[in-house]
Amino acid sequence: MAVELRGINAANKITEDLIEEVKVLNAEGIKPCLAILRIGENPDDLAYERGIENRFKKIGLDIKKFVLDPASKQEDVLKTIDIINNDENLQGCLIFRPLPKGMDDNIIRNALKAEKDLDGITDSSLSAIFTNSKRGFAPCTAEACIELLKHYNYELIGKSVVVVGRSLVIGKPVAMMLVNENTTVTICHSKTKNMEEVCKKADIVIAAVGKAKMIGKNYASEGQIFIDVGINVDSAGNLVGDIDFEELEPMVEAISPVPRGVGSVTTSILARHLVEACKR
Ligand code: NAP
Repeated sequence: MAVELRGINAANKITEDLIEEVKVLNAEGIKPCLAILRIGENPDDLAYERGIENRFKKIGLDIKKFVLDPASKQEDVLKTIDIINNDENLQGCLIFRPLPKGMDDNIIRNALKAEKDLDGITDSSLSAIFTNSKRGFAPCTAEACIELLKHYNYELIGKSVVVVGRSLVIGKPVAMMLVNENTTVTICHSKTKNMEEVCKKADIVIAAVGKAKMIGKNYASEGQIFIDVGINVDSAGNLVGDIDFEELEPMVEAISPVPRGVGSVTTSILARHLVEACKR
């Protein structure tokens, strides 16, 4: 039986530490507050937002929501970002993406002030991952993958890691962050050949694909660690990951479940970034 890498344990540890740090900030007269910019009422966004609200309440962090109508224009979004950028009582911001069709993602994500970009969406934050500089913040989900491995005391140095997926949200940043952790990384994507064999040879596999249970036992070998970033709904309406948990669990060393895996750590990482932004 594999070790189940549950996110809640890592999330609670971060929460405990942050509660103390927020007390110190409050004593200095600093009230950390996150701006959330959401367009419309997408159920996935609302579920994530509820998760953030619950976690932030436990830690003692404030949230100010900016909710725009789905019919809003790009200039409305840019005006709202300008308000957030210039409000010194808002130390950080999360923008829900993907944005509605017709909006230019590059223009909108880069309109946010780099120091308020808590989810690593600006080119400035992403380049900081590339140069391994402490400037900026990494995308929260990418950082959550590494946090989960570290929380369970898995050594990373010298390990071979396969990242399946190359999006700017998860695949590419997590791969570069893992290089910064001294692992040897292979990135797979939809054009990769012999992916099953490539995955089988890795010490650690991170799946960020968006295809329900795509990674089955043909991709796995004994002793491996699997981290599942995927959030999918299967044909029966259940929330499942990119990894076939039932197939892999009997044969691998460790595996993160979906739900209650990486996703549970993400909101705590966001909270940590807000506290860090206040300290900076
Ligand atoms: P994305 O932008 O759609 O990227 C998916 C990646 O998977 C692409 O690089 C794509 O390759 C690759 N891919 C697709 N089919 C493949 C195949 N058959 N074999 C190998 N690679 C394949 O998705 P994303 O934004 O990175 O999100 C990935 C998953 O993570 C989704 O399920 C999403 O819901 C979930 N997610 C979870 C969290 C969390 O907090 N846990 C946060 C964000 C997202 P190409 O580049 O070649 O197209």
